Amino acid sequence: MSDIFDPISVESKYTSGVYYKRDVAIVRGKGVRVWDNKGTEYIDCVAGQGVVNLGHCHPKVVAAINEQSQKLLTCTEIFYNDTRAKLLDKLVSVLPQNLNKVYLCNSGAESVEAAIKFARLSTGKKEIIAAMRGFHGRTMGALSATWEKRYRQPFFPLIPGVKHVPYNKPQKIIDIISEDTAAILVEVVQGEGGVRPGDAEYLAHLRKLCDEKGCLLIFDEVQTGFGRTGKWFACQHYELEPDILTMGKAIAGGVPMGAVAVSECVHNLKPGTHGSTFGGNPLACAASLAAIEAYADEKLIERSCELGKYVREKIGCIDNSVIREIRGLGLMIGIELKTKVTPYLRALMANGVLALPAGPTVLRLLPPLVITKDELDQVVSIIEKVLNEGKNG
Ligand code: PMP
Repeated sequence: MSDIFDPISVESKYTSGVYYKRDVAIVRGKGVRVWDNKGTEYIDCVAGQGVVNLGHCHPKVVAAINEQSQKLLTCTEIFYNDTRAKLLDKLVSVLPQNLNKVYLCNSGAESVEAAIKFARLSTGKKEIIAAMRGFHGRTMGALSATWEKRYRQPFFPLIPGVKHVPYNKPQKIIDIISEDTAAILVEVVQGEGGVRPGDAEYLAHLRKLCDEKGCLLIFDEVQTGFGRTGKWFACQHYELEPDILTMGKAIAGGVPMGAVAVSECVHNLKPGTHGSTFGGNPLACAASLAAIEAYADEKLIERSCELGKYVREKIGCIDNSVIREIRGLGLMIGIELKTKVTPYLRALMANGVLALPAGPTVLRLLPPLVITKDELDQVVSIIEKVLNEGKNG
């Protein structure tokens, strides 16, 4: 019938065009599952690009949003606010111990922007050293630190003074670090760049180098934070404390939010040096407070660690030579293939599993941390099926 609302055709008419879109309209989600407008059910290992670590529409987050929305939706940070105060107290309690001041914003890229500004402000130096294959967002500052050339090149000139060096190779940084280096900015596990965990020695070396040279260590934990890797923050696997840590994605259980935490080594964050209209709004703060409580109450951080090991072992049992390598930490999982991943993502979707790429050949799974072993078994057997079908035709 022609009068049935078709979100795909309407959205296609008006959307900007900057996204690779999949031919499906997701209209509802609960826990690990989402449904499209035709009623088809999917196991969601995209999770809003690693946002819904708690599962879709977690009842505690929904209740907190409902409650806060009756009270106060917006409150600029020029005023204090009860919900924000409670969130800050809770957030600092799960962060690495040295990080006890927080700037609140609205997305991952915004948190990286702030981190870069804070590093320059604090040190009075200009250069940022970032890593090849790193991803930090698409606003001009964050984009300058992002590696992928096709994201950056159309927008030159970006901010000057950002240098990229190979990840997991400390010597390269030693070679280029200078008196004018403000910060080293890396992901603890590279996400978009292929799900590549940092080596313990490499990350420890970065810490030491920053201490020696008087520059700041920034860990971008936008993707790895809030239990994704089996710790609250991935750096806690390595017992390392950065000077600045960026957050986003899963911080507020599905509501847009970002944050930057800084240590006492970061100076000069004086009134007027940075800010955001929506930063620290009570709605997002209420959602984040409820989300952090739910991660802790439901022991989802430990669960991510356990299930991550379980599922990587299971994937390791798939007998198909198209798999080159299985990587990851906790429930941040990358399966590197010897071939392009896109056809497999399509086949997975046709079989009821939503998954992500991480570069051209890596199949990435970011399931909600509430996923069960049974559901993971199901995901693995569907992956096995589509890989085998790919082999045959
Ligand atoms: N940093 C990292 C490590 C990310 O993975 C992302 C998003 N994939 C960003 C920053 C940017 O976050 P956002 O899309 O919320 O701006």
